[in-house]
Amino acid sequence: MHFIKRVNDVVSAVGDLFFPPVCISCGTHLFKNEIEICQMCIRRLPRTHFEKRPHDNQISIMMWGRCRINQAYALFFYKKGERVQRLLHEVKYRGNIKLGEELGRQLAKTIVRNGDNSYDEIIPIPLHPKKKIKRGFNQAEVIANGMAEIMKVPVNVSDVVRNTYTSSQTRKGRFERWQNVESIFRVKSPENLAGKHILLIDDVVTTGSTLEACVNQLSTIDNVKVSVATIACAVL
Ligand SMILES: [Zn+2]
Repeated sequence: MHFIKRVNDVVSAVGDLFFPPVCISCGTHLFKNEIEICQMCIRRLPRTHFEKRPHDNQISIMMWGRCRINQAYALFFYKKGERVQRLLHEVKYRGNIKLGEELGRQLAKTIVRNGDNSYDEIIPIPLHPKKKIKRGFNQAEVIANGMAEIMKVPVNVSDVVRNTYTSSQTRKGRFERWQNVESIFRVKSPENLAGKHILLIDDVVTTGSTLEACVNQLSTIDNVKVSVATIACAVL
């Protein structure tokens, strides 16, 4: 288990004994049904409402001509330095697993409320194993676990793997970067996924290149349908 996560878990367990848990965003005491963030703060975050037009929204449009996706969802809009970025940062770099799962549950609720729950499997965008060891967890997997609780759909973390360890893409040219992303993912056992509707999960979508690479790999499987869902979508 990752050291920071472990420290976090111990601190929160001890803390709960003496102080009732508070919202990480505004510091007010949480009600029993609230986890890590209060309803008030959740309501104040900038919703995308993509679930109301899952075939025709910023992500679907961004992906046109790049890869084939069915539905596309994102819970919030994301801007540098704003609250949504801080929440995702809390999950990814400070190991707040409970928050990641809760954001996953919130995302799943908006999808289910929209009447769509025709997915066979939830697949989190995989991290390279080295990176997963370094971080201690895969944030997309944490989100997927929260979603699975609400959607009652299994999470599959074994059939898609990440090949290459891309430490930094910033110094590479556009073509090189594209090549790099294109060869990142591999489907290990396509027969397990044939004919299924997959919901692919990531924490945030910015340029869409990671999702594109993964969707294109998944699309090589017979009769597969792929939809995507993220916690946040960068404002263009
Ligand atoms: Zn709050």
